[in-house]
Amino acid sequence: MLGANSIWIKQPLACFTAGTDNADGGVVIRDGRIVELLSANEQPSEPVDEVFDAREHVLLPGLINTHHHFYQTLTRALPCALDKELFDWLKSLYPVWAGLTPDMLYSGTQIALAELLLSGCTTAADHHYLFPTGMEEAIDIQVEAREKIGSRVTLTRGSMSLGEDDGGLPPQTTVQDEEVILRDSERLVNRYHERGDGAFVQIALAPCSPFSVSEELMRDSAALANELDIQLHTHLAETLDEEAFCLERFGCRTVDYLERVGWLQPRTWLAHGIHFNDAEIQRLGAAGVGVAHCPGSNMMLASGICRNLELEAAGVNIGLAVDGSASNDSSNMIVEARMAMYIQRLRYGSAAVSHRDALRWATSGSAAVLGREDIGQIAVGKQADFALFRRDDISFAGSHDPLAALLLCNAQRADRVMIGGHWRVIDGAIPGLDLPRLIARQHEQAAALVARLH
Ligand SMILES: [Zn+2]
Repeated sequence: MLGANSIWIKQPLACFTAGTDNADGGVVIRDGRIVELLSANEQPSEPVDEVFDAREHVLLPGLINTHHHFYQTLTRALPCALDKELFDWLKSLYPVWAGLTPDMLYSGTQIALAELLLSGCTTAADHHYLFPTGMEEAIDIQVEAREKIGSRVTLTRGSMSLGEDDGGLPPQTTVQDEEVILRDSERLVNRYHERGDGAFVQIALAPCSPFSVSEELMRDSAALANELDIQLHTHLAETLDEEAFCLERFGCRTVDYLERVGWLQPRTWLAHGIHFNDAEIQRLGAAGVGVAHCPGSNMMLASGICRNLELEAAGVNIGLAVDGSASNDSSNMIVEARMAMYIQRLRYGSAAVSHRDALRWATSGSAAVLGREDIGQIAVGKQADFALFRRDDISFAGSHDPLAALLLCNAQRADRVMIGGHWRVIDGAIPGLDLPRLIARQHEQAAALVARLH
């Protein structure tokens, strides 16, 4: 049954609530929200329409991805971009990405969302900053593509305005006029941004990075986000090359620049946030800025290790993200949580970072980063967004602690996923979605994109 009004997810094998509550006896959902948490052997206080026996499932809040570039699923493992660090990697890919068409973006968006959903991800942020000729309605295309998958999304209206001719990194064909960017941003917010609990589509503003937009656009984007009361997003402090670029072009470090353009504030979240000094970490925390930690991408491009524990201690919200599929090249959130645990242990030691920390970043931490209070936790009043994992795979054979095993034994795929009270994944598959057809279409579109370069 897909749409029962009330469901009891009964007595899970293990449960991580991302809070202090206990839900060993399970969770009762009514009209898409959590209405009751039960302790072991407790019964729901009122009759329910449906009981889902979860004794073989580990129950988590739906995972939340805070940074991605869905279109990059078309350029995974592309030969011209292999074995390079950020700036060279970007310069190899920009000319390919400049050939993006509406059909390609539609396909790439559905692939990314479906892949994320199958890994337990119920909400995803995307950073789309490519609007070449013919792609002016890129975000509208993404809104439409999302419909079939059913995930919650924060689609960020990205932008690039500083082309090679003006000392920026991207080729001139990929940048847009700043007035056009701001007008389109406002149009998208007015048309699509949902406010309040249970939102499925939200819009945020996202100039791509300090090396691809002008100082004016950073400042104007912040002013517009303040006016429209929405979130702000960009890449920051990903590499030392970027720090050198800021010093040379703006005469200051990345956080000084952020402050100068009005971005040191709670509606801001930053992708990567690796190269901050101690004083900068304190300033980011005091301002309530969020960071999307991208461990897989950071390892792939050898960018460095985010200082998660110091950032959190200073008051920065830390969320988890897979980043774009050209630098990961996978969109698997439960695997990403495993990578976060491991890379952070490399920095702080095994005793300082547990599987619970990584799961917290992937759930309640990510929700805070996206400015959402209605998701990311199993608690009364929150949206009924869950990821449920079984332990049938050979990698779990002989395992003990079921929650720790999700990360330690490398869980890959959720068995069930619920969003707003509706099952969106059943038995490891998305009902109503022809996945083989989707994958075949994506291969065709990816080949066509690369062919456009020649
Ligand atoms: Zn990114």
